[in-house]
Formats: sequence, C-alpha cells, structure tokens
Amino acid sequence: MANAISAIRLEINGIVQGVGFRPFVYQLANRCGLNGEVANTATGVSLILEGPQDRIRQFIDALPHRKPPLAHIVDIIEKPQATAGFTSFSIVKSRGSSTRATLISPDVMVCSDCLAEMRDPTDRRYRYPFINCTNCGPRYTIIDDIPYDRPKTSMRHFTMCTQCQAEYDDPDNRRFHAQPNACPVCGPQVTLCDAGGRAVTIEDPIVAAADRLKQGRIVAVKGLGGFHLAVDATNEAAVARLRRRKHREEKPLALMCADMQRVGDIARVTDAEAALLVSIQRPIVLLAKRAQTPIAEAVSPRNRYFGVMLPYTPLHHLLLDAGFAALVMTSANLSEEPIAIDNQEAFARLAEIADDFLVHDRDIYLRSDDSIVRHTAGHMRPIRRSRGFVPVPIFLKDEVPPVLACGAELKNTVCLTRGRQAFVSQHIGDLENRATDEFFRMTVDHLRRILDIEPQLVACDLHPDYLSTQYAKALDGITRIEVQHHHAHIAACLAENQADGPVIGLAFDGTGLGSDNTIWGGEILVADYTGFTRVAHLNPVPMPGSAAAIREPWRMAVSHLQAAFGDAHMPADLPLLRQADPKQLQVLMQMAQKRLNSPLTSSLGRLFDTVAAIVGLRQRVAFEGQAAMELEMIADADERNSYDFSWEGDDILTIATAPLIQAVVADVIHGVAPSVVSARFHNTLIRLVDALCIHLKGQTGIDRVALSGGVFQNSRLLTHLVAALEVSGFDVLTHRQVPANDGGLSLGQAVVAAARATHA
Ligand code: ZN
Ligand code: ZN
Ligand code: FE
Repeated sequence: MANAISAIRLEINGIVQGVGFRPFVYQLANRCGLNGEVANTATGVSLILEGPQDRIRQFIDALPHRKPPLAHIVDIIEKPQATAGFTSFSIVKSRGSSTRATLISPDVMVCSDCLAEMRDPTDRRYRYPFINCTNCGPRYTIIDDIPYDRPKTSMRHFTMCTQCQAEYDDPDNRRFHAQPNACPVCGPQVTLCDAGGRAVTIEDPIVAAADRLKQGRIVAVKGLGGFHLAVDATNEAAVARLRRRKHREEKPLALMCADMQRVGDIARVTDAEAALLVSIQRPIVLLAKRAQTPIAEAVSPRNRYFGVMLPYTPLHHLLLDAGFAALVMTSANLSEEPIAIDNQEAFARLAEIADDFLVHDRDIYLRSDDSIVRHTAGHMRPIRRSRGFVPVPIFLKDEVPPVLACGAELKNTVCLTRGRQAFVSQHIGDLENRATDEFFRMTVDHLRRILDIEPQLVACDLHPDYLSTQYAKALDGITRIEVQHHHAHIAACLAENQADGPVIGLAFDGTGLGSDNTIWGGEILVADYTGFTRVAHLNPVPMPGSAAAIREPWRMAVSHLQAAFGDAHMPADLPLLRQADPKQLQVLMQMAQKRLNSPLTSSLGRLFDTVAAIVGLRQRVAFEGQAAMELEMIADADERNSYDFSWEGDDILTIATAPLIQAVVADVIHGVAPSVVSARFHNTLIRLVDALCIHLKGQTGIDRVALSGGVFQNSRLLTHLVAALEVSGFDVLTHRQVPANDGGLSLGQAVVAAARATHA
C-alpha cells in the first residue's frame, strides 16, 4: 500500500527562520504534490505533510540538498501523525509565543539573483546598494533582540512601501518575510560626506566616492559590520598615507578585488582557495602573491601573501565597478581599537584618517570584522572567525549547562553555550584599552539577549590581570571556573572535533599563564575536558624585560644564548651580538641572570622569535608573531636536514633548547643561509615532537594528538607535523572551525567549565 495517503510531522531545528525556509518548504511540497502546513516554532520549523508515502520520502530526501543557502539544518525529527484531510499546502502563523531558542543567521554576501536585479536598468532596484532577499544580506549585525522580526532590527526605522510590503507578504516571492527588505523609495540611502562629516550634494555618491579613490584619497566606507578604510591598492603614496594616519606600520592590509579574474592577476589561487573566496561567508583568504603585480609594496611588506576578499555587499560591487585592480579595505580604526560602526562615531574617530566618508542610514547594532582564513594541510583554517560565520554555533558532542566563557586577552572572543551548541562571538580584539573593553561587555550583553542564555557558570583564564578575567570576577552570584590557558586550547580542539580525551595535547603559542605561575607556551599535556597533566615542555628561559621581550625578539635571543652557552662563553662572532650595543647587551644579560623583571617562559612562540633574531631576520617586531611569521616564510622548501634534539627528566620531560640554539648559531656563523637554517629549525621541531609523541604513546597508550595554539598558524609546521604524526599511527585533531590562536580559547574555557561542573 505504498501509495495510500499517510501523514507525518517533521520538527526541523537549526538556522531555519529568516532565511526563506518556509517558502522553500511550500514550494517543495507543491512540487512533490503534498498537502499540509508549515509554521515557525520556538526551536525551528514544524511541518505536516500528507500524501502518498513515496512522495513524502521524496520530500524528506530532497530537503537537505535543496535547502536555501542560509539555512543550516541541525536535526530533523520525524513523528507519526494522523491524517487530517488537508486539501492544499499552506504557511500558517507561528506556533507558540516565543521563538527564542531558534538560531540567527550570520550576515552573508549578496546573492546572484539580487545582483542581477541591481544591474538591470529596468528593475526598480537598479543600482540600489541595499538590495537583499531571504537568501542574502545582513542579519546578525542588525539584530537588537529576538524574535528576529523587522521591529527588532535596525530596519525598524524604515516603513516598507506598498510594493516592498507586497513582496514581503507573498510566499511565492523571494522576499517573503525578508526582514531587511527595502527599495530606493522606502529604504536606506547612501550619502557622501566630507572629512568634517558634512553631506556633499552630489548625484551619485558611490560614483563620486570611486572617483575620489582614484585620486588617491582615503575613503571611509560604511559596510555590513563596520566601517572600512578604502584606498586604491595600486597607489603607493595613498597606501603609505593610510598606514601613517592609522598608525599601522607593517601588518598586512586586506584587499578587495572585483572578481576572480582580478584576484588571479595578483595572486596564485588554488581550486580550494577559490572555493573559499566565492563562499557565501566571503572571508579574507590568504593567497600567495604573484611576482609582478600592480599592487603597492606597502600593502603587505616583506610578506609572501596577500589577504584578499571578493565584494560581499551590493555597495562593494558598485564601488568596484569603477575598475580598480584592487582596493585596500581595512577595518576602520586606529591600531588596536575596535572597528567603527556608527556614523557620528566614525566622523569623530576617523577625522584624522579619512578624507571622505561614504555612509548610509541603516544602523549597525553589532560590529563584526571581516573573517580571515587560510587553506592549509588540506582544510580551511580560520585565523579570525567573524563576519559570515558568527553566530553559527559549534556543535558539541554532548549537552552542556549554560556557560559564559570570557576568553583570553589577545584576539579575544567570548563563548556562550546552550544544549549542544557553543556560540563563539565575533572577533573582539586585544583587551588592552577601554574601547575594546566596552566592546567586550557590549558583545556579552548582546549575545546573552539574542541567544536568550542565562549562564549558570562563568569561565575565565588563570591570569588575574586580563580584563576578561576581571570581568568574570566581578560577576555576582555565579560560579566561576578558572581554566589554564593551554588546557583551554586543547579542550577547544577536542570540542570542535566532537572528540573525548584523553589526548596528547600539543599547546604551542606565545604566552599563557601556567599553573606554576611561569609563562607557558611550549606545552605537551595529557588532557581531557576536566583536567590535564603537563607531561613535557620546552626548557624555560628568562624573558628579559617581560613584555618588552615580545616586542624585541633580540632580547629573547640573548636569553636563549645565555642558557645555551653560559654568560662567559657567548658566541661573540654571531652577527646579532657583534651588532648589539655592548652596554645594552650587558644590562640585558644581567637582567636575565638576576631575574629582574624577567619571568621564566617555556614558550615556543618565543623560541621562533629567538631563531628569527639569530638568523638576522628581525630584532624588533611591530605586532606579535611577526618574526615567527617571517621565519616561516623564508624557509627553504627543499631543505631536508635537521638538528639534534633531546629531552630529559622522568616525570615531567624538559625539551632541551640548548643543543638547538648551539646548532643554529654554528650554522649562522658558518654562513648557512637563513632560509636553510629556518627550514632545519622547522624540520627539527617536527621530528622532535613526533618522537616525543611516540615516546608518550609508549608510556600512556594514548594514540590521539590534538594540535592547538597560535604557533599552528604556521603552515609549514602544521602540514608536516600532521603528516609525520599520521605516519606514526596517530589520530590527529586540528582546528577547522575556530582559530588555533587565542580566538578559539573561549570555546575551550566553556567546555572545560561545563565538564568540571558536571563531573564535580
Ligand atoms: Zn538576495
Ligand atoms: Zn520599497
Ligand atoms: Fe594562546
């Protein structure tokens, strides 16, 4: 009786509201010849299907494959249902008063249908820079509260005209219940303003802005999650001026190219990278530079990569239509402050930077920087997870209680959990100033509100000075759990892989407070969610001058040289020492020796800095990790040799750094090229860590390794270490959803706190 009429109820959970899901269901049901109804519920969408069983099956099979681009189905629960004799399929009113547990879509790129309309001179939205539909446009950044309806978004100030309202009400229309729906008659408008924030009367503000960019001017452009500062990327003087005014000396600046062909003109793009560039999230993708490009040298000096993205708003497309090889599109802020989002705020804060402002009157409620990704070791690796990805949750293996995790100090994010979902916030930044601290607090409040989460636990770092830790400590009436930095790194890696411990965790980064009050960063832990044992670490050395040793890698080099050679036998032939100011050197050595303002560190990030300084690459850095990054980039791809290595100890193993430093010094003194020394250093680390993991497997029986920490942004290390460990029979877990750097730390803190509370 396959074709007897039967009925079924489907409960679909996930990102299924505000993304055109009900019209899609309506159309699919009609195509399959099914009757019934669909409605939004508190957790997603509920639908009843009536018809022949084989057609119901056909519907269920097609559902996940044909779903709208923004929809994200978490699960589909099938429930038997008595037939009720439906004669058609319809969209009915929401069931229940609340839609609070539903998921909110991230902001995504303008879709091809909308773009085609925008380019059609006969369309009523011809060249309208706020065109959108249920398949595209802003979401997360314009929501103030839930449920996600127009009055709860920054579109509430715009009343739809009759034509827009008709589209909004029509289930057959692509704009059915598209909350940001708008047109030139009823919606937001762009305005060009001068440096003083005064509106310029001009026929087409976008064309005028493009003209000014061509003249080499700096234009602040209001986008989706904040302002960008734009300049013509081929104009050396303009790029240099932007850097000067923004106080950003060396960090690479992001580029936006009109299309894939233009990207191909300036960078070599693999198929996998191309897929990332065109993905709906439209992240900045790190791409290998071509040898000859028209792009100004100052865009990414001493760097083999460009960070490139494609246009993602209609406004970007219209700007780039003016025919630029690329525009620099960098977050509009002074170095280390949050990106500007409000018009008045932008006029005030960017007055000294921008020559012109291209603004609009649709408010941004929550800032969201561009995401940055890299394709390496076979997968997409997020470096900064922000616009386009947030607030899609990381799905956990098990349910957890509601936790607020406050994250680290640098590259801060926060994380809120609910059931099996962990919501990692957008990139907040370095919590080193008031503005970023305010942004941190605002993001916590905003996320709690739109996710409707009342945390039972708050998790934070061990470090008492982090503003995120201080925030956690100031919360009343909530259990606080402090999580060691490197444990959190490994737990984050376990969580996003839905894996359980115990695992051999390689936590390699720049800085994190250890449980013994020294600074860790070259740690091998045996860990699960609840706890960890430090089984091995790099030999600790003093950091002369503390934070100054991070900014000045030569200080770390001197400290490592002291540890490797002894003060009396320093290798005087080494260019680094020959070129150093003898007095300064003397002071530094005494500082380290007497341990004055020189905390001990076992950081691998600092060891990278050390080698970079010894080979003469860089004695000072403009941003953390710069020396390490440059050391990776110069590494000779063909060099196979490595240095000797060893470790000592019984209980906790100490990885000796002295033989490595001695070998590097010998090579440098013998004139071996820095590129070869760098390759040998990388090769040594890979062989050492592989051997150490095999040793630990012998002792513990654990054959799974988790890799986390900012050092794993190093593509050469990641790629070759994963390969080596797999050859040695390890199951290797790496980051693909959250950054390996401290941007992923809040996720780890959250799952550790949840596990401790549950298993206490
Ligand atoms: Zn669209
Ligand atoms: Zn309208
Ligand atoms: Fe870290």
